[in-house]
Amino acid sequence: MKKVFTEAAANSKDYQALTEVLTHKTPEAVITEVKKSNLRGRGGAGFPTGVKWSFMPNNEVAPVKYLVCNADEGEPGTFKDRFIINQMPHKLIEGMIISGYAIGAKVGYIYIRGEFRKEAEFLQTAINKAYSDGWLGKNILGKNFTFDLFLYRGAGAYICGEETALLNSLEGKRGEPRLKPPYPAQVGAFSKPSCVNNVETLANIPWIMLHGGEAFAKLGTEKSGGTRLYSMSGHLQHPGIYEFSPTLTLREAIQEAGGVRGGKKLKAVIPGGASAPMLRADEIDVCIDFDSLASVGSMAGSGGIIVMDETTCIVEAALVLLKFYAHESCGQCSQCREGSPWLSRIFQRIENGQGKLADLELIEDLCKNMAMQTICAFSDAVTGPALSSIHKFKEEFIQHIESGACPLKNHQAKRV
Ligand code: SF4
Repeated sequence: MKKVFTEAAANSKDYQALTEVLTHKTPEAVITEVKKSNLRGRGGAGFPTGVKWSFMPNNEVAPVKYLVCNADEGEPGTFKDRFIINQMPHKLIEGMIISGYAIGAKVGYIYIRGEFRKEAEFLQTAINKAYSDGWLGKNILGKNFTFDLFLYRGAGAYICGEETALLNSLEGKRGEPRLKPPYPAQVGAFSKPSCVNNVETLANIPWIMLHGGEAFAKLGTEKSGGTRLYSMSGHLQHPGIYEFSPTLTLREAIQEAGGVRGGKKLKAVIPGGASAPMLRADEIDVCIDFDSLASVGSMAGSGGIIVMDETTCIVEAALVLLKFYAHESCGQCSQCREGSPWLSRIFQRIENGQGKLADLELIEDLCKNMAMQTICAFSDAVTGPALSSIHKFKEEFIQHIESGACPLKNHQAKRV
């Protein structure tokens, strides 16, 4: 089977697709091809990329527009965009130039996570090279098309991976999500229409232009085209980045990564980055595409597959994630600002052996009040690990509460 990134890494012919596009395709034809490809956003939401592009107003209505690449990659368990930046930065740059051409943007920004210092330096070197080779700047390939690209380093906030928080941060403001509507395609960066796409999404564009949208669509499922990069971590024999067709099942993906390390039994899997609800070992015969994982109550999200073996304390695992969220809430909405640390405190006391059975009901109630009523989806995301852990591993929570100890750690918990 063809693999988009494995092939791209082996093919040094960068900017071949751009040459083809600027010579033979109109912007409308590029958008049509991307729609045919069924490419869906690889950052987490999985929105169809061609459709997102078509929301951008035309040049008569909006002569100034921006393309923004989300390279913030902060979702715990996700590290594939960093791989693209390190291994094939020119595929990303080429994808951005083609995308800018398609949506009528003359300027692009790459918003890169603050902690990615080396990646930022590397990417800036690649951008400089693209300028010196004539792929960026005025009248690219002698055509009437200009595209400038700027790199902007974030300051390390998880919430800046949310597209409107990212836009605020890009403008030099606090990285806080904006109320939508208006959507970025209407009012984006610097109050101009903007399209925000993820690194992997944009890096797929050259392949689609060279091989055609239909060829890309055939690599995936009916509703989600192409192969995908999966960051596989946790208790695996061979953790790392894998390129899979989303027609693979979660079980097959884990086997491809060598299976659970040390011959231990699988206990749980988080299939799409930290905010994806976890699945039990008996629920992994499901394909790793957006729709299949949604049908079992989880999500493909950012493609970060975290594997936990039988020695994992689920209360502690969920607690680690909840502490992270409590730290990263931007604080605009009370449900999220107060709810995230509250959840974290409840899980902490259960882990400490000081919980009560009524805490399980309290968690349910809190999560009900946190979901679907805040400015952004962060608050909903916090409920993912909280609810899935108590629903799928309730016995383990009850054991912690009733015995005052973690059943897996063979010690009396820190009851005081
Ligand atoms: Fe901020 Fe949380 Fe509200 Fe999102 S849900 S805007 S992160 S407080």
